Amino acid sequence: MKKFTLGPVEMFHRTAVIRDKGFCYFRTQEFSDIMINNSKRLAKILNIQDFNSIIYLAMSGTGAMEATIQNCITNKDKSLVINGGTFGHRFCEMLEWHNCDYDSVNLKWNEELTYKHLKPYENKNYTTLFVNLHETGTGQLYDIKLLSDFCKRNNLFLIVDAISTILADDYDIEKYGIDVTIFSSQKGLCLSPGMSIVALSQRMIDKLQTMPKQTTFYADFKDYLKNIKRGQTPFTPPVCVVFELDDMLNFIDEKGGEKAWLKEIEEKCLYFRKKAKEFNLKIPEFKKSNMLTSIYLENIDAYKVFCKLKDNFGIYINPCGGELATKLLRISHIGNTTLEDIDDLLEKINICIEETKKEDMK
Ligand SMILES: *Cc1c(COP(=O)(O)O)cnc(C)c1O
Repeated sequence: MKKFTLGPVEMFHRTAVIRDKGFCYFRTQEFSDIMINNSKRLAKILNIQDFNSIIYLAMSGTGAMEATIQNCITNKDKSLVINGGTFGHRFCEMLEWHNCDYDSVNLKWNEELTYKHLKPYENKNYTTLFVNLHETGTGQLYDIKLLSDFCKRNNLFLIVDAISTILADDYDIEKYGIDVTIFSSQKGLCLSPGMSIVALSQRMIDKLQTMPKQTTFYADFKDYLKNIKRGQTPFTPPVCVVFELDDMLNFIDEKGGEKAWLKEIEEKCLYFRKKAKEFNLKIPEFKKSNMLTSIYLENIDAYKVFCKLKDNFGIYINPCGGELATKLLRISHIGNTTLEDIDDLLEKINICIEETKKEDMK
């Protein structure tokens, strides 16, 4: 079995065996030291000054997205959402659910976000911008500089779901003035699912102090910020994932650090895209994250190809939801996969496409 999925990914062996080693009870100084050491190293990777502005939630990514809405905006705020696929749509649904005022920049499939989409929203009274920097539903990586400049000009808080870009593409909180960064254990970090991480700017931490009582008790960010100062969380964290994270950050260091880590993913990604073209597979033209490549199939049911890969070869890639379900296949470049695995994958994708074509002709 091989997984070319985005999360959980094909895990590295050393991560998979962490839970067998056993670990200490978490309400201890020993555990706090591990938490603090993790935060210090993550702060370096993300480029933030204060490692105590990073909090850990026992939630999937969507939980952290919702907690961010519950903590960081009120019904006095007016938000703008970049909605270019499944995950942009999810922010819209959540804002709607929580009765928050918002407008969305809606992109069609294959439409690249440019300044012309933002221009109508200049000098309006928006307070917050929500974006899934890599819209995993399509594979488009938005231009962070474009969005950051827009927010700085218009004095907006910038809230970034960076779940499917951190540790695959460059990401810099200081440089782009990002107020909230959300990511999860099961994607770029290649760990077990169950932990999301939120990094807050000082400006957002200050705003939190002025907010009315949150609608969430469990995910009250102020409580998490208070506890993290002593390397703890208010409630039981996913202890095993914390140990996996500690080991993964060691692993990244052993590989030569973040830059070398990104380089290796980029190599796999470029290799895949080059080879895919040789197989005449269509890849979207828009700017893409190195974490993922979408393949666009015409006149062949992509979902059938996904099922064949799984059932006939034990290979998992990401299918698509919604209206793209029968059109897109998505292949991840993170996790424990090699260039040889990519050769094998493409060969098998080709076989599955040919078989699906034959069946459809009958
Ligand atoms: C994976 C992902 C999420 C989180 O999904 P969960 O299933 O809730 O962990 C959120 N946003 C983006 C952009 C993602 O890729």
